[in-house]
Amino acid sequence: MVALLSRILMIVLGIWLLRRLLLSMMSKKPGAGRAPAKPGNTMVKDPVCGMYMDCRLAVRLEEGGETFFFCSEECKGKFLAGARTGEIPTGR
Ligand SMILES: [Zn+2]
Repeated sequence: MVALLSRILMIVLGIWLLRRLLLSMMSKKPGAGRAPAKPGNTMVKDPVCGMYMDCRLAVRLEEGGETFFFCSEECKGKFLAGARTGEIPTGR
């Protein structure tokens, strides 16, 4: 009876140790999916020339509740001209 109890205890202890080992292995996983992107460091696309740039460096235009980013004032002007004549769709 005592032998059986000690065997059960050994099994339980083994399972507990295995679980601990598994948990520690899981928590040791390197943060591969951790993106260093911050809200102030997002890449935005110029809808006129299709260039990608940092939103902090872009020329910003807020129109109709949407924010557009341009690489230069020239592109912004082109966009505004196109939006007026309907050449460039403002939507997606
Ligand atoms: Zn541009």
